[in-house]
Amino acid sequence: MIEEGSVVLPGDIIATSEELFPGYGTKDVGGNIIGTIIGNFFINKKRTAAEIKPLTSVPALLHKGDTIICEVKKITDKMVLVDILHVAGVNREMAGDKDAAIRVSDIAAGYVVSARDEYRIGDIIRARVMQARPAMRLSTEGPHLGSIKSFCSNCRVPLVKKNSVLECPRCGRVEKRKIASDYGEGNIDRKVKFVRR
Ligand SMILES: [Zn+2]
Repeated sequence: MIEEGSVVLPGDIIATSEELFPGYGTKDVGGNIIGTIIGNFFINKKRTAAEIKPLTSVPALLHKGDTIICEVKKITDKMVLVDILHVAGVNREMAGDKDAAIRVSDIAAGYVVSARDEYRIGDIIRARVMQARPAMRLSTEGPHLGSIKSFCSNCRVPLVKKNSVLECPRCGRVEKRKIASDYGEGNIDRKVKFVRR
């Protein structure tokens, strides 16, 4: 069973059907309880069920058209879950719930087979708020949007842009991302600390 409070994306395995019953936002698929909506996992103790509290709250600071800087927390084939670090041009800390999701169809122009092909956990990306309410919708479609800082999957050092791909200066590994046109120029993000946890 995953930890209570964890953010779950559709398709994530939460527990086995021996541990919990399916409840709101989950279903039993072949003995696994999986999430069907985006939100936080909790146990409904009365029903011994795995339930999801949907991600609905949108930070008051965010409006349609805003450009935001986020960090990728989780990825499935269909979506990318991000933690919003700050709103570009707004000199204020983000407070409260900062989770948001980017659907695979909103990652780039054209057909993206899997979100995993475009982003990795830890990427710092620039996204645009397409819709703030009632549910937030983010996009990274467009030349100025996408990763502005990505890290080597092997050695975790920042990747360097080389033509249309990214290369690790330490081990030489080449990785692909949906990158912003100014990837690696570091001119927008003095507030974001690129520190690996
Ligand atoms: Zn490397």
